[in-house]
Amino acid sequence: MPRTVFYPGSFDPVTFGHLDLIGRAGHLFDRIVVGIGVHHGKKALFSDEERVAMLREEIGKLNPAPLARVEIVTFDGLAVDCARAHGAVGILRGLRDASDFDYEMQMAGMNGAMAPGLESIFLPAASGNRHIAATFVRQIAQMGGDISPFVPEAIALRLRQKLNSPSTR
Ligand code: ADP
Repeated sequence: MPRTVFYPGSFDPVTFGHLDLIGRAGHLFDRIVVGIGVHHGKKALFSDEERVAMLREEIGKLNPAPLARVEIVTFDGLAVDCARAHGAVGILRGLRDASDFDYEMQMAGMNGAMAPGLESIFLPAASGNRHIAATFVRQIAQMGGDISPFVPEAIALRLRQKLNSPSTR
């Protein structure tokens, strides 16, 4: 039975931080299910389909390729339900700083109460990625800043195109 971990997030868009976590988790698990959360109340910049496509492309370019099999799904309910539906042993999250830690510990407690036995698994952000957050990447791009240190080239291009499209302006 392959050991599966569920990695939920917004991935709006995927950053070097997310990709690093996927690559590293690939050494620890046989299968990673990346779950793109589709929140009804939270409007994302990129559509679900765009986020799936961007993740798929960038994971496909990872070098070295992740040892684990990586699948990408969307979900609009509880992460614990989606994790269980995919047979995951745990939920993977990245920790960048103390505010991630406080938030994630609380979330882990709530998830543990809802889904006993489903572990929360934290990986520290790589030191070079600790500052990267998709929210800031979107804001910097909106203000015309250089986002190349934070996201792969193809994602930076897509962001520029998205922000220049009449529906976004
Ligand atoms: P963000 O917080 O950047 O908007 P997400 O909500 O998509 O991104 O985050 C999904 C998961 O990825 C969370 O566990 C988050 O802590 C983790 N993550 C986000 N950015 C990084 C990073 N730079 N390094 C490590 N983990 C990260």
